[in-house]
Amino acid sequence: MARVEVVRGDITREAVDAIVNAANSSLRGGGGVDGAIHWAAGPRLKEAGAALAPCHPGDAVATPAFDLDPPVRHVIHTVGPVWRGGAAGEAALLASCYRRSLEVADSLGARSVAFPAISTGIFGYPPDQAARIAVDTVRSVSTQVELIRLVAYDRPAYDLLTAALDV
Ligand code: ADP
Repeated sequence: MARVEVVRGDITREAVDAIVNAANSSLRGGGGVDGAIHWAAGPRLKEAGAALAPCHPGDAVATPAFDLDPPVRHVIHTVGPVWRGGAAGEAALLASCYRRSLEVADSLGARSVAFPAISTGIFGYPPDQAARIAVDTVRSVSTQVELIRLVAYDRPAYDLLTAALDV
């Protein structure tokens, strides 16, 4: 079973085999963590993403990490659900993002993977509910990944993920 950790920081600085991007379906980049990853990986990421688009909510695909610093070798792009009140299948789609990303990580042979708090920014998912789903899903998935790092960008997200990890 994978070790699950919570850290606070910028996911583009994480020394792991693969980082997960909270992308949009076009895979051409956007704001938030998506923008930060595209900035750090360089323009080839957009080209590689566009060639794989569209990626549907709940699914994940991988590209090389291009200009991201080693040891990062892969970017796994997953598309979270847009929050529409909670009755539109958002929870199942968010869980699917974590599950599919780990399946893709397994197919790449990645042993350490960092996740941002998918959907909790521009897509509006309530961060407390998202933290619960993130922790429960990564804990329940059967994977060859040995280290799963949940990366919180701010203090509130860090506190919510830490609390979810303790239950
Ligand atoms: P989404 O569209 O899936 O909501 P966002 O990028 O808007 O994606 O937000 C997802 C989460 O990523 C938010 O909690 C946001 O604070 C966080 N975030 C933004 N930039 C970074 C970064 N460089 N590293 C890690 N997390 C980040």
